[in-house]
Amino acid sequence: MLKSAKRIVIKVGTSTLTHDNGKMNLMRMDRLALTIAELMNDNKEVVLVSSGAIGVGMGKFNLRKRPEVMGMKQALAAIGQCELMNIYSRLFAAYNHTVAQVLLTKADLDDEVKKMNVMNTFNSLMEFGVLPIVNENDTVSIDEIKHLNMFGDNDTLSAVVAKLISADLLIILSDIDGLYDKNPGKNKECNLISIVEDIDDTVLGYAEGKGTSRGTGGMITKLGAAKIVTEAGVNMVIANGRDPAAVLDILEGENIGTLFVRKEKK
Ligand code: ADP
Repeated sequence: MLKSAKRIVIKVGTSTLTHDNGKMNLMRMDRLALTIAELMNDNKEVVLVSSGAIGVGMGKFNLRKRPEVMGMKQALAAIGQCELMNIYSRLFAAYNHTVAQVLLTKADLDDEVKKMNVMNTFNSLMEFGVLPIVNENDTVSIDEIKHLNMFGDNDTLSAVVAKLISADLLIILSDIDGLYDKNPGKNKECNLISIVEDIDDTVLGYAEGKGTSRGTGGMITKLGAAKIVTEAGVNMVIANGRDPAAVLDILEGENIGTLFVRKEKK
């Protein structure tokens, strides 16, 4: 079923992209770039939703703790975003691919005209064979009254993007193998769920929040993302980002992580 996926959105979290000390995990970023370059060479259309800007900004200044002050967070996001794109740009260039930065705010996608513009940009970039790398525009978006004017986490942003561009598949690479029937951070005895057909109350009951200080939404926002995309006819897989090349195995139909089966493709 996933083998035929042509348009794929891949989301990576900060915990996949950075080490515990906040510095960038270059080995993983390189594996991610190689994997995506392979997909693009195989005529897949890929969009990468990448977190990590604040984490990378923190790493640059050797900060161990996320700053509390809003302006400081925004400054780190601006510094880190630039560094993040610089690294992606060089890694993808090594594999003969070009990247483009797309920064979005919630307001951009709530407005019909802006939404069309964003969609056209994605389509044109993919027509050029360029990889759009998406992140929330933290400089504009970070809000004291969280979640009113922002996506707040890239799980939701990646779902909204996947729906917007009518992707076939959204792959969320996380620091965990998939959805378990209990939070593995707190329960030793828990089972990986390999397929979810309906995101009902039982499934929602499995999920808790983020696992590490570098994580963002935890499983709760991932299930929210799964609901958005499956209802829009997009399949979704949550898998471990430890080795980003697992994406290739997922597309070969291997049973990796948790698959959320889409409703009828619209
Ligand atoms: P990332 O940004 O890498 O995706 P998050 O911390 O946002 O990381 O989300 C993954 C974390 O969600 C896991 O490490 C785990 O601690 C937590 N979690 C909560 N409930 C569950 C569950 N039922 N199954 C799996 N992980 C869960």
